[in-house]
Amino acid sequence: MTPPSAGPAAEVAEVAGALERARGAFPAWSGLDPSARSRHMLAVRSRLLERLDDVVETIVAETGKIATEVVVNEVLVTCELIGWYAKHAPGLLRPERVSPGLLRHKTAEKRYEPYGVIGVISPWNYPLVLSMGPVVTALFAGNTVVLKPSEITPKVGLLVGEIFAEAGSGSHPAIVQVVTGSGPVGEALVRSGVDKIVFTGSVRTGKAVMRAAADALTPVLLELGGKDPLIVCSDADIGRAARGAVWGAFTNCGQTCMATERVYVVESVYDDFVAQVVELTGRLNQGSGADADLGAVTHEGQLRVIEAHLADALERGAKVAAGGRRVDVGGRPSLEPTVLLDVDHTMAVMREETFGPILPVMRVRDEDEALALANDSPYGLNASVFGRDKAKLEKLVAGLASGNVCVNDVMVSYAIPGLPFGGVKSSGLGRSHGPEGLREMTQVKSVATDRSRLRREPQWLPLPSQLGRMARMAMRVLYHRRYT
Ligand code: NDP
Repeated sequence: MTPPSAGPAAEVAEVAGALERARGAFPAWSGLDPSARSRHMLAVRSRLLERLDDVVETIVAETGKIATEVVVNEVLVTCELIGWYAKHAPGLLRPERVSPGLLRHKTAEKRYEPYGVIGVISPWNYPLVLSMGPVVTALFAGNTVVLKPSEITPKVGLLVGEIFAEAGSGSHPAIVQVVTGSGPVGEALVRSGVDKIVFTGSVRTGKAVMRAAADALTPVLLELGGKDPLIVCSDADIGRAARGAVWGAFTNCGQTCMATERVYVVESVYDDFVAQVVELTGRLNQGSGADADLGAVTHEGQLRVIEAHLADALERGAKVAAGGRRVDVGGRPSLEPTVLLDVDHTMAVMREETFGPILPVMRVRDEDEALALANDSPYGLNASVFGRDKAKLEKLVAGLASGNVCVNDVMVSYAIPGLPFGGVKSSGLGRSHGPEGLREMTQVKSVATDRSRLRREPQWLPLPSQLGRMARMAMRVLYHRRYT
């Protein structure tokens, strides 16, 4: 782990040393049996829990979120992910035989090999789980890691490095290296010669990462932003839908990639839904104490975006039904949990990622209109649908252009470690979690082995004179319509 450094140039210079140390740790770590790696990762989980108070305190201090959110949405989700991979990674990494097809005298096998060193770049909004998640997945697959946390949450990043260095009585201290600093350090990591980049952050930075990675053809996994819709059908349980929407929009003060950022409600249940959402929102306690429901907007730059979306919506005719005022939360300027009505797709609040505590609710004719509006977005991270009729729900699930869909629920897919998580359209490339997430951290080596002991193959040189004629005949027999 690298200590915090003197200045930007020194921070950039630290990337090369961190990469070298991670490369040095790779042979021993990748050479371990996957079940030995699983045992070590369970020791990492134990160390994380031993340091729980430090973790909670550091995250609360750097982000302004409330302690309960840290415990439930970050630590618990991380622990579950480690447990799932500890159980399943050894099996998922085992070589797999596939049919050799026509070539019956061969064996064919897929092997899942680690890349080497993975560069992980993480954002500030969930600084623990969005660092630990990709880091542990990379390690389970046999890679070592250089992590660059956000400049807004460097102490959380350094704490993550300490936890890995201390786990298992410090038996593999160098497998995770941490470099702190801002964008230029991230770019230096992308260009450093790491074997893959796993990036979580905004679409704009994600594109810059992909451009920088293209020079060395470094593969990238991108987990980017969202503008997640929630659809309330005419037959929904309105009480559950309203509670789900309020949690989805306001937990972590709305600073969640898969936050509920826009709601479409069928007109027959609109008034009931709005009344319940407004009533629930009015009861929320925003603050920094033990009894708070939500905390603060983490930094002023984010608050400026949120307030610009609010001002644009009001200028275009939206109405505030709850909240709407700037407040101080534990010394941080923030926005109250805010419900907006009379919104439409001309407004930034319905089209761009707000990443703050605003819940815009739009009345729609029916579920078909809701689906069309939900898909009218450059994003496709997560979506929620609330209703009872199975056929109607299935039509919505199938029609939503989204990497994840939650039915009668909100955001929960992320907390199920066996389910792959990721976006379509501008929300990203690749998947984390589940078997797909582990395999993202591996390169497949395909191995074909001859077991015939023949002296030659028919197509080897010099070509046998009858080969072409025999091949034509064989194909007619093998691939004739009747035989396929
Ligand atoms: P940013 O894109 O601003 O930053 C993400 C990370 O990239 C930070 O560590 C940042 O460093 C670093 N970075 C900045 N510039 C560069 C560069 N040129 N090259 C490499 N790295 C760079 O995102 P935020 O931190 O603001 O996070 C919020 C965004 O993350 C939202 O859009 C949100 O939707 C998305 N997100 C996506 C998730 C998903 O799983 N799909 C989950 C959570 C968030 P620094 O902060 O030091 O500038």
